[in-house]
Amino acid sequence: MSYSYEAPVSQALFDRASVVTPGGVNSPVRAFRAVGGTPRFMVSGDGPYLTDADGREYVDLVCSWGPMILGHSRPEVIEAVQAAVARGTSFGTPGEGEVALAEEIVGRVAPVEQVRLVSSGTEATMSAIRLARGFTGRAKIVKFAGCYHGHVDALLAAAGSGVATFGLPDTPGVTGAQAGDTVVLPYNDLQAVRDAFAAHPGEIACVITEASPGNMGVVPPREGFNAGLKELCAANGALYISDEVMTGFRTSKAGWYGIDAVAPDLMTFGKVMGGGFPAAAFGGRADVMAHLAPAGPVYQAGTLSGNPIATAAGLAQLRLLDDAAYAKVDAVSAEIRGLVSDALGKEGVAHRVQTAGNMFSVFFTSDEVRDYEDAKRQEAFRFTGFFHSMLADGVYLPPSAFESWFVSTAHDDRAIERVAAALPAAARAAAEATGEGVRA
Ligand code: PLP
Repeated sequence: MSYSYEAPVSQALFDRASVVTPGGVNSPVRAFRAVGGTPRFMVSGDGPYLTDADGREYVDLVCSWGPMILGHSRPEVIEAVQAAVARGTSFGTPGEGEVALAEEIVGRVAPVEQVRLVSSGTEATMSAIRLARGFTGRAKIVKFAGCYHGHVDALLAAAGSGVATFGLPDTPGVTGAQAGDTVVLPYNDLQAVRDAFAAHPGEIACVITEASPGNMGVVPPREGFNAGLKELCAANGALYISDEVMTGFRTSKAGWYGIDAVAPDLMTFGKVMGGGFPAAAFGGRADVMAHLAPAGPVYQAGTLSGNPIATAAGLAQLRLLDDAAYAKVDAVSAEIRGLVSDALGKEGVAHRVQTAGNMFSVFFTSDEVRDYEDAKRQEAFRFTGFFHSMLADGVYLPPSAFESWFVSTAHDDRAIERVAAALPAAARAAAEATGEGVRA
């Protein structure tokens, strides 16, 4: 199936990009490989809308994969950035903006007593793992299949099915040694975690989990799962690391912690806290963070960490995110979820809309999705037709059936009506999909 006729300017840009950049993109999901067709090259964003290089406007249900929770080009954020830029772009020294952003994070998320700013979620999880290993003096780490924590070597390990296995590298370039201390377990399975601690007494430095996973589609923790992880970690001298890069400051003022109140030893953040700029963080218990250089021996650093533009953008965005803002995002999410479910229901398409706060995704199955194996059992081929029909009608969805959808405070009635208008044809396309010729 070819969709390239729909976006000639984007196609020309993609052709140019493919000469000088592997696969034509700077992050794989942007290449539309899972759905086919021409990736849209965007030129501007305004509130809930994106405009592509062909001049077409889309209702944006990706929101830069989470960060744009106030919509695009929110005036207060843009003004804060302009004011910061006018003072200079990077000093390589400490600055007040970093202190203010750290105070905002510490003020919102009780388990974070101290925080270190970095530039990407990947850096945050990589550094948190190093700190956990340095603090405990142990090598092994536990992660869950289907949880993504950035492209950290040790965390790019895939699951064996159903049973605790040592991680096998998920990608060429990650050696057995780098992934060999990673134990990969099925998500939402506390018994597997118990068994892993029993199999490796005194060897596991930490368990890292997405606070509520959004990288295999939205698969929330079962009642008691995060609390169980915390308990098992505490009982076995390991640290419990909650990765809130996606959920942090999105699902509530205090992220997923604000919803489940399970206090981790360490947490990681990114996306929303950067206001669309490269800013991320890791933080937690002061006695653990005290092991970080220069206070302690565990090395970690960054030329652009705490960059003044990124911290100004993040701080401006966080300061606008009050209770009313979260109530608005939750309401938008609920409305769009209802519309999607109605449209698919009318066409008799088996589906489940799973939610975690205002994050949600659509699985093409009627069964509950509790882990990565469940997620992979859905009829993902139905998503391709659904996605392209929505795109043709001006709604930009994540180009994969295994991603969360994101909305913002800027999604107003007009934007939601446009989503509603696009859904019936997309639901028909999903119903008519046969999966022939489509990669799973
Ligand atoms: N952790 C989670 C839960 C994420 O969703 C992501 C990115 O999507 C990361 C870590 C990595 O963040 P970054 O892409 O900023 O490196």
